[in-house]
Amino acid sequence: MKDVTIVGSGLIGSLLAIYLAKRGYKVEVFERNQDLRKVPSKRGKSINITLCDRGLKALDAAGLGDIVRQISVPVYGRLIHREDRQLEHQPYGNNQEALYSVSRNQLNKTLLDYAEKNFPIDFHFNEECIGLDLSSTTITFKNSRSGSILHRKTNRIIGADGAYSAVRQRLQQRSRFDYSQHYAAHANKELSIPASAKGAWTREKNVLHIWPRGQHMLISFPNIDGSITCTLHLPFEGEFSFDAIKTEQDLKHMFVTMFPDAMQEMPDLVQDYFANPCIPMVTVRCSPWTFQDKVALIGDAAHAMWPSYGQGANSGFEDCAFFDQCVEKYGDNWLATFREYEEQRRPNAEAMGMLSEQHFIEIRDLVGNPEFQLRKKIERKLNRMYPTRYIPLYSLIAFTHIPYADALRIEQQQRLIVDELIQIKGIAEKIDDLEIEIRIHQLMRCRDIELQNSAPKLLQSVK
Ligand SMILES: Cc1cc2nc3c(=O)[nH]c(=O)nc-3n(C[C@H](O)[C@H](O)[C@H](O)COP(=O)(O)OP(=O)(O)OC[C@H]3O[C@@H](n4cnc5c(N)ncnc54)[C@H](O)[C@@H]3O)c2cc1C
Repeated sequence: MKDVTIVGSGLIGSLLAIYLAKRGYKVEVFERNQDLRKVPSKRGKSINITLCDRGLKALDAAGLGDIVRQISVPVYGRLIHREDRQLEHQPYGNNQEALYSVSRNQLNKTLLDYAEKNFPIDFHFNEECIGLDLSSTTITFKNSRSGSILHRKTNRIIGADGAYSAVRQRLQQRSRFDYSQHYAAHANKELSIPASAKGAWTREKNVLHIWPRGQHMLISFPNIDGSITCTLHLPFEGEFSFDAIKTEQDLKHMFVTMFPDAMQEMPDLVQDYFANPCIPMVTVRCSPWTFQDKVALIGDAAHAMWPSYGQGANSGFEDCAFFDQCVEKYGDNWLATFREYEEQRRPNAEAMGMLSEQHFIEIRDLVGNPEFQLRKKIERKLNRMYPTRYIPLYSLIAFTHIPYADALRIEQQQRLIVDELIQIKGIAEKIDDLEIEIRIHQLMRCRDIELQNSAPKLLQSVK
């Protein structure tokens, strides 16, 4: 009863394998692709991601938080490149809170190395899951090199095989399995800036540079070798869209119009653009995540989300840590583990999926908008006055461990305070005046009473 089969050796499958091997389970991982440590990195295939406290806590608990910090660059906020060429600093918080920018491939390789070096985990690469018999818990794999078929009977199957999960597709064939997917009208493409770039802005490394241009956006993420990985967000259709940009001239015209300073530092722009794939953004919602005590979904397989909030991997890592706590609590009672894992994690994934879609609009359309900036300024003031009691939504998500669903409920109360304050004439100039501070004290008292009445536990979590 001690064997567990994980499908997918991406970020989440690899971390879960480590957690389960630590608990003494015999873990086998089957991965469709080649071992990515043995193939030269393909540019455009590895985006950069940012890890926040949630993901890092889960990595710390597995023993590799510091190893990951060493391959990451801390970023302390956003630097907005406005259309009028002015720069606008937006720190993530008042206390030097940082996200960690890291190449997804590099992170995945680090997890695989750590897993293989420290635990007797069997990784099988080039093995694609093509079938699953639920009654006998037998999975079928096809080897992409030899074409040979392998039927593997096992006790437990965890589908960590990403947004287009084959394990989930098998569960979908059962009755009363709810499933929905929601694509954005936009996609992403990876571009790059070499370490030798000379632009004044490229020297500011410890921030995410963002060029918000309504429907279009460029974000740059620093790497430890001094290079920068950029993500270009464009709509699929319309002027300056993935569909419309067909030639080098179209591409350069768009960059000259929207991102001229960034373009100067991108010698490989044309090559990158036409070689790299478009990565669509999809939200996946499904239920149940588990089947008896035999099959469970985790990470993107259970809850893919738009990358705008940078929480896909972070929430998947949190899934792994929570799953591990359930295993610790229930031992070999997998039914209890699966039940608690799903009960606790699914509402949070649903909240985060919704927030990610909202946040996409926020960073795309609003980051450069004066009212949005005023709201952020008011939030920072509230947070300065009540550092442990008023935590802006972004910080609740990125810099606390409050469950996502609770963060969403707290935000709904907090938003009312900002809605009130922003009505005050001239608030931007007199934000530090006594009159405003007294109003803030009153509003905070009302909010606490509201939270106390609706859910006392929530108030506890922000204290
Ligand atoms: C542009 C972009 C930016 C992002 N930015 C962030 C960010 O800043 N912060 C953050 O936390 N998250 C971010 N994410 C999300 C993050 O990348 C994902 O949430 C995370 O990679 C999910 O990991 P996973 O292991 O669940 O799935 P995946 O990474 O998709 O891994 C699944 C693995 O399963 C394998 N597999 C698939 N099908 C099969 C099969 N049939 N048989 C065997 N193996 C199979 C795949 O080859 C793969 O190795 C971003 C995503 C994108 C697209």
